[in-house]
Amino acid sequence: MPSLKSVSQETVIKEEFDSVDVSVVREIKPPEETSNNNFLPIAEDILPTKGIFYNGKKLYGRTLKVIELKKLSNVSEKDAVKTVNDIMSKVITGVDWNDIKVADKQALIFWVRCNTFRDPRFTITYKCNLPSGTDDYTGEDIICATDNKMSFSIEDLDYNYIDESKLNKDGSITMVLPFSGDEIIWEYPTNKEVELIEENYKKIKQMAKIEKKDDPDYALVSYSCIIKSINGNKNMNVLQKYNYICNELSSADYMYIENIMEDEYTCGVKPNVKSICKECGGTVEVPVMFSEHFFNPAFTK
Ligand SMILES: [Zn+2]
Repeated sequence: MPSLKSVSQETVIKEEFDSVDVSVVREIKPPEETSNNNFLPIAEDILPTKGIFYNGKKLYGRTLKVIELKKLSNVSEKDAVKTVNDIMSKVITGVDWNDIKVADKQALIFWVRCNTFRDPRFTITYKCNLPSGTDDYTGEDIICATDNKMSFSIEDLDYNYIDESKLNKDGSITMVLPFSGDEIIWEYPTNKEVELIEENYKKIKQMAKIEKKDDPDYALVSYSCIIKSINGNKNMNVLQKYNYICNELSSADYMYIENIMEDEYTCGVKPNVKSICKECGGTVEVPVMFSEHFFNPAFTK
């Protein structure tokens, strides 16, 4: 029999699942009206969403202050999301950072980094991971493993831009599942909503612990958070949506969602840039985000 304490704890957690309304884009004073006029306008074409979710409001950004640069350079994995969000919310204005779509986040971080340093180019080193031959004895691939250096700027980034033709008038997306016929409406999440995914995950995990169930699945909690309605029902909380995905959705419909999300709805900066290895001449996909020198460029004379 569950103790009184655990029952009340459970009730409290369930009540906490009431969804937070973040649908209104909060306008921040445009920089002209603030005392700090170091803000520069940000062109829409550097945003993977093309800025279409911000109701015609323009984004502005400024360069990083030394203290902000220090914090970003020393950020640990544990508090990376919070530190980056705290700093970016001061550096970007025009639209509240919370309301900016997470699809634009990395592009804006790049923009800030490129504008902070006099040389907007960015150098990364990588080891070539392409096979350069076959070992005669073992038959296994020999990896080229040559150390390479490449430099690139924001123009070299690859984008997955938003496909406006797939959006409803309010910016949401309707998906009809092929097997059950269920209709799911979801939206690209904002920075705030992504923070809430983390909170909701912790709450569901705590509930699962009380009920002696397995830990929840992070990806499924994420889907539960970006889904706005299921079969027209807009009033389901995250836990109810999570239970729908876990218990009512067929695996075939789930695979459909996973595939279509990746194939048709990916929006953001692509995580890799292409580079030619100086030794083997092959094209290597090099990850660009947040390598250790991202905010710490070495000064070259
Ligand atoms: Zn190579």
